Amino acid sequence: MNSRVSIVRCCDYSNVRGSIEEAIELIGGLDKVIAQGSRVLLKPNVLAIRPPEDAVTTHPAVVSAMCELVSELGGIPVIGDGSGVTRPDSTATAEAFRVSGIEDAASGCGAELINFEQSGFVEVDIPDARQFSRLYISKAVLEADVIISLPKLKTHELTLYTGAVKNFFGTVPRKNRKQAHFLEDRDLFGEAVVDIYSFIKPHLAVMDGVVGMEGDGPSRGTPAYAGVIMASYDCVALDVVASELIGFDPLKIPTNRAALARGLGTGHPELVGTPLEEVQVRFKKPAGGVTAIIPPFLRRVLRRHFTVKPFINTSSCALCKACVLNCSANAIEEVDGVLSIDDEKCILCYCCRELCPNDAVEIKKSLLVKIASRSKNR
Ligand code: SF4
Ligand code: SF4
Repeated sequence: MNSRVSIVRCCDYSNVRGSIEEAIELIGGLDKVIAQGSRVLLKPNVLAIRPPEDAVTTHPAVVSAMCELVSELGGIPVIGDGSGVTRPDSTATAEAFRVSGIEDAASGCGAELINFEQSGFVEVDIPDARQFSRLYISKAVLEADVIISLPKLKTHELTLYTGAVKNFFGTVPRKNRKQAHFLEDRDLFGEAVVDIYSFIKPHLAVMDGVVGMEGDGPSRGTPAYAGVIMASYDCVALDVVASELIGFDPLKIPTNRAALARGLGTGHPELVGTPLEEVQVRFKKPAGGVTAIIPPFLRRVLRRHFTVKPFINTSSCALCKACVLNCSANAIEEVDGVLSIDDEKCILCYCCRELCPNDAVEIKKSLLVKIASRSKNR
């Protein structure tokens, strides 16, 4: 399959189906990957319990359009994800589907909706793994004939950018996600994400880049208009182009770097559709991402001085404990009904910030980070 990446302008979600069709046609068509009767897993980004206008999750109009296109070719669309939020009763993904509008999108098209939290996982070997030689992967992924990534164009406080490759982090259980975050280093984390991607080998990616997220993504940033739909059979190539489109150096994105080093995609794809220069925007970088400009050895030395530390704003905290359940370092402690983060234990993964439904996890930047942020955003 070719590594073309298409870019098509799309000014709002009311005409998104036409833009998606055009974007897929430009790279070679949907019929290249879908045969009559094939079970097609559509994997949107349903990270958190947030409505479409917050731009945290893939827009339901994109999911609906893809369901229709798959059905029209005789494929059987199924939609699946496991949100990043943990609740003891495993209801978080179901609620995220409902609030994000993806539940309605699925029922409107008659597509099965699969909650990865509840549908089970299978342990698999990851050939040529760098971090995880064995992982649990959602059964829904293993049962699909065709897998399509439907990412949202967003920044990310740990990996700087999140797109088609990182989207598959949602296919593993929280146990594996916590292990990956516990690696502590963004490059090692990128390798772990690419371990997952290398096993899944998706067939196509269609990116929701109409309204993305800038700043402190993937959930605490600001919705940012980019006005594009992008498509590629090569998720890595798509991420290289999409990260450049928002003004980032594609080779500074850990997942891009790790995937390209393993030969899992191309860094120089053929671009088709609207020229990149005509749609390029400049998304604000995430505050946590500033540490990426420091080489890893220096980062270790300067760690104490070069930090963007999370802290809990107790006046906004509703004590739901989603952060406690999701903290892989067990760094969040409760004393007398008040939560606080132990800086010594915290590995700066920002999961608590991503997942807090009340925006109660805030950050404080060290002086060095403030200085670096100023020069970086100039
Ligand atoms: S900080 Fe947020 S996630 Fe943690 S307990 Fe408070 S409201 Fe819940
Ligand atoms: S306190 Fe937050 S940032 Fe620190 S390790 Fe836990 S989840 Fe990650």
